[in-house]
Amino acid sequence: MTDDDQELGITESKSHDTGEWYAEVVQKAGLANYGPEGMSGFIVTRPRGYALWEAVQNALDAKFKETGVQNAYFPMFIPESYLEREKDVVEGFDPEVAWVTHGGHEELEERLAVRPTSESIIAPYIARWVRSHRDLPLRVNQWCSVVRWEATETKPFFRTKEFLWQEGHTAHETDEEALEETMLRLDQYESVYEDVLAIPVLRGQKPPHDKFPGAKTTTTVEALMPDGKSVQGATSHHLGQSFAEAFDITFSDVDETERTAHTTSWGISWRCLGALIMTHSDEQGLVLPPTVAPEQVVVVPIWQADTKEDVLEYAEGVAEDLEEAGIRVELDDRDEHNPGFKFNEHELHGVPLRIEIGPNEVEDGELTLVHRPDGESDVVDRADASGTVRSHLDEIYAKLYAAAEENLDGEIREADDRAEILGTLGRHGGYVETPWCGEEACETEIKEQIAAEIVMVPFEEDDDLLGEDHEETCGVCGDPAERTAYFAKSY
Ligand SMILES: [Zn+2]
Repeated sequence: MTDDDQELGITESKSHDTGEWYAEVVQKAGLANYGPEGMSGFIVTRPRGYALWEAVQNALDAKFKETGVQNAYFPMFIPESYLEREKDVVEGFDPEVAWVTHGGHEELEERLAVRPTSESIIAPYIARWVRSHRDLPLRVNQWCSVVRWEATETKPFFRTKEFLWQEGHTAHETDEEALEETMLRLDQYESVYEDVLAIPVLRGQKPPHDKFPGAKTTTTVEALMPDGKSVQGATSHHLGQSFAEAFDITFSDVDETERTAHTTSWGISWRCLGALIMTHSDEQGLVLPPTVAPEQVVVVPIWQADTKEDVLEYAEGVAEDLEEAGIRVELDDRDEHNPGFKFNEHELHGVPLRIEIGPNEVEDGELTLVHRPDGESDVVDRADASGTVRSHLDEIYAKLYAAAEENLDGEIREADDRAEILGTLGRHGGYVETPWCGEEACETEIKEQIAAEIVMVPFEEDDDLLGEDHEETCGVCGDPAERTAYFAKSY
């Protein structure tokens, strides 16, 4: 993989080599670079890439705050003894932890872990802050980075040793409230995918053997990528009392009895940007929904020497109107590039809507609009430019969502027996929906043969494969089925 973002244009094909194509889009659209030599697994997020993260952050942060969450910040280092305390609950991230052993020239008495996740440093403080039932529910969130020292090939936003995320941690009086909290956060993640990133998702639980260590339930939203693999989009964990017990999160109840709290944790990482880029982009480069695009509209004036003045003035007026209406617009009046070059560059960068303005548009009082995702163009009246542009931006969002939804709908297939599961996954990828007995061994068998796993088990109320009578049998072993499982290869 090269780190050359000078050359314009994507050379790899999306369907031929999705991985290489993806790496090229990330570089050439100016989203990220690889880290310094000797630091494989780290990336530098450039302003255009960071703007996408900020869009996700802003949308989610508003939702969190509307629902009782406060932001806080905890140290990036965790004393080894704190991580040890968690061991009763969690067989942790040990091999993946990066350790600090020295401060300056001094060897530390106790090694410090660079946080792989922060339960073990946040929980003791929640324990301090919670005294009585009046302190509950308690909800804190932090936006930060975490480090997991996995030695795999770097894939920007999908696989990096350090990644950005948010982690929310809450404590509640009852198990029921903790479960409600878990589901509320899952709903908010689903909404960010569907309403901000234009990606439909499947929601459900991780199979019991794959839940977060110590959790009662891990819930997930899963997004299907164009190469037929599933991405775990965000997770929300119902932790029950295991962490509260390990870290003494207790409260005195109305009747003065000392009780143990019920906790949750939930997170989304910048992997959602990976899903965003991979889902919508094409062979011309990045494609973005207007919701997250740093520039929603680019105005490209097209002039000759004798028309330059009029065209520019008209284009400036249009850009000003849009800006005043709160639309993120760029006027590309650079002299040194011709319109064709500009078109290509803005397509590569994923600007959702282009407005072309030449002498004809000026004369007729019109605008030519071109949609980035499919090149559809429309000549519209100059009057009420902002209203017209807004409705075109909505149309572009709807197009992207519809395409992703069509892809997802076509990639969920039912299978009733082992041969069908293996054959379907092998031929098509995507999701295979099958009745499942609940045993990990049945997943292992599929995993060993085709590297696919159970990425999701639908919630019971969403489970339409199992009839009321539960007479289905497990697609792998033939024993009575308990649940429906979605098998897929995954990121
Ligand atoms: Zn089975």
